[in-house]
Amino acid sequence: MCGIVAVSGNAEAARLAYLGLYSLQHRGQEAAGIAAFDSATGESSREREAGLVSDALPEERLAKLRGDLAVGHIRYSTAGGAGLKNAQPIRERYRGGHLALVHNGNLTNANLLRERLLNEGALFQSSIDSEVIVHLIARSRGESADDQMMDALSQLEGAYCVLVTVGDTLFAARDPYGYRPLVIGSLPTGGLVVASETCALDIVHARYVRDVEPGEVIRIRGGEIEQVRRLPRFVAEPQPCVFELVYFARPDTRLWGYTVDRARRAFGRKLADEQPAPGDIVISVPDSANSAAVGYSERSGIPFELGLIRNHYVGRTFITPTQVGRDFKVRMKFSPVREVLEGKRVVVVDDSLVRGTTSRALVHMLREAGASEVHLRLASPPVRWPCFYGIDMPTREELIASDRSVEEIRAYLGVDSLGYLSPDGMIDCVSDGGETYCTACFTGDYRAPLVDAQEGLAMTSHC
Ligand code: SF4
Repeated sequence: MCGIVAVSGNAEAARLAYLGLYSLQHRGQEAAGIAAFDSATGESSREREAGLVSDALPEERLAKLRGDLAVGHIRYSTAGGAGLKNAQPIRERYRGGHLALVHNGNLTNANLLRERLLNEGALFQSSIDSEVIVHLIARSRGESADDQMMDALSQLEGAYCVLVTVGDTLFAARDPYGYRPLVIGSLPTGGLVVASETCALDIVHARYVRDVEPGEVIRIRGGEIEQVRRLPRFVAEPQPCVFELVYFARPDTRLWGYTVDRARRAFGRKLADEQPAPGDIVISVPDSANSAAVGYSERSGIPFELGLIRNHYVGRTFITPTQVGRDFKVRMKFSPVREVLEGKRVVVVDDSLVRGTTSRALVHMLREAGASEVHLRLASPPVRWPCFYGIDMPTREELIASDRSVEEIRAYLGVDSLGYLSPDGMIDCVSDGGETYCTACFTGDYRAPLVDAQEGLAMTSHC
């Protein structure tokens, strides 16, 4: 999780970055921050705070961020903790000048690198992977910022998109596997914006230019792309995260060549083909399953109804850090519509099933509201493995599908029937051009090496 944005070559850089973060709020709600650099004065500034973008960066803080270059970050808290010390951007001064860095993803050799750096005398102020990258840049023997960047990034394993400013220069980089998205847009008022999702371009009326491709390190100055270099590692089959399409990205985002809404509708239609259900109505678990439910309804011919209303004033339950918070929030978050549900055989479409606790509570609510039957259909395969590439998932033991059969899960959830989209069915929907994807949380096929685990170290899950 986490979302990142950068603006180069625009006098309103920080405000545009703020709007970008605003549209990426679904990627994290724990903290937000922006660092700015003024090419005219050589001054840098940073503001960061816990909370939603609008709370963390009020006008009086935004007004302090002056300059034509800015990077911003929204943080989703993981095992690293939600403390302000883990909020980004990281800002340091080193021999190359002012440096600010934001990172989205998860390094699979972060602890090995951290141990090595500690042994060499490095001091760490946070527990996030991103600080490791800053140390690697600062300690590089490379002469230029370009070489320092290439040197540092070449040592990383796992998933990362990073935006780094060194003085007036912006570097945008994506790991060779391309796990997380990063796109470049052109601003109508001049300059470039780089962001996790295209929805962050739309909000500032930026025109999509291109993706940062897997393994690319792009140098931008004054709103112009100056240079594109490639990291030495070549990966034959890129591994963009298919779960971004299933759940995380915003429906209006264009990702991996597909509009997320269209991809989710296709998942829903395929799910209807593979897992038909005897229902009077189809409802979604709002909002992330809306598109898939519409697709299911289209293909099955069963009418789509609004049977659950979501209260938008609480966070997304999957990304709430503690179990205690989650159980509480399920009841706060959804309300069943009795008039729609009463006496009906209800096909409930959800995007995925992770722990199962939310779905179990929902099923109970639907029955209490009068549903005569509840048939749960999931627009993705069983999640059996944790993610080590930047999506915070529970441990393997906490994943409901890790060691239970579909029938055991059905019984636990208390539904009349349960059906998942198949892995092949999912990929069929989003591989018109022969695209390849990471599917490790469904299949256990981890492509980027899990170095820390191989070395007997704990795997972190930070961005
Ligand atoms: S393991 Fe799953 S969530 Fe993680 S990157 Fe791969 S597909 Fe995405």
